[in-house]
Amino acid sequence: MHGTKILIALLAGAIAGRAAAAEFSGTQALEFTRAAVAFGPRPSGSPAIRKLQAYILAQLKLHKCVVTQDDFTAQTPAGQTPMKNIIARFPGTTGTAMVITGHYDTKSMPGRNFVGANDGGSSTGLLLEMARALQATPHASDVYLVWLDGEEAVAQWTETDSLYGSRHLAARWSEEGMLDRVKLLINVDMIGDKDLGIVREQESAQNLRMLVWDIAKSLGLGRYFLDETTAIADDHLPFLHRGVNALDLIDFDYGPGNAYWHTEKDTMDKLSADSLSVVGKVLLKVLEAMDGRDPRR
Ligand SMILES: [Zn+2]
Repeated sequence: MHGTKILIALLAGAIAGRAAAAEFSGTQALEFTRAAVAFGPRPSGSPAIRKLQAYILAQLKLHKCVVTQDDFTAQTPAGQTPMKNIIARFPGTTGTAMVITGHYDTKSMPGRNFVGANDGGSSTGLLLEMARALQATPHASDVYLVWLDGEEAVAQWTETDSLYGSRHLAARWSEEGMLDRVKLLINVDMIGDKDLGIVREQESAQNLRMLVWDIAKSLGLGRYFLDETTAIADDHLPFLHRGVNALDLIDFDYGPGNAYWHTEKDTMDKLSADSLSVVGKVLLKVLEAMDGRDPRR
């Protein structure tokens, strides 16, 4: 699909008097992030992540969505660990589905106060604000927001020690036939950095990647979506490897030489509402552009 065609379609929708999408508030997304970070380090299975789960579930009760708690036990280097993906479905009418995912756990760093404001916090907060904005956004497809547990490795990153939540959900949705309904899946990770620069993740579906970059440009936000291509293992992969049209949006240059990543420097003062707003606004436009279209046919 060509970028220009999509823009014309968007314009036609606006002229036809279609209800405008609710504004995504970067400020509100930042406040949700702050609330998540206030629980302290939130590794999978910890008391703090259980408090955050309760907070997310309480927020979702305020919205018209159907919530599923996808509980499972992961075999990790630290032993059996209880994990929970939280899935919010905003029902549409056509049976197709569009999915936005992000992880809400933080990397376990014993003895350190690693609060993961950007890495784990920003995706949590962005998704909570997305849930609020979706209330006023008409959509024919089901829209799913998913808070994934267990993105981080417990010991050292390997194919079996990482991506616990997304691997579990991709397998579950495959068994349930859900993946056949998914038109697109976009994962967000580390998208709150004040100095936002989202890379072209190499393995991601490139048509979807180009659509997102085109829409960002059309909104005057193209400068945050870089030309640089990097391969990054993230929660989109288990879905991508099962044939889903999946994309990862990640800013993997956090502080000078990525110095804030997985350190105690990953704190709220490094984030900005504007960055969260950029990603939220682009995502809402992507959902609008892809609604009713089925790229599989
Ligand atoms: Zn991480």
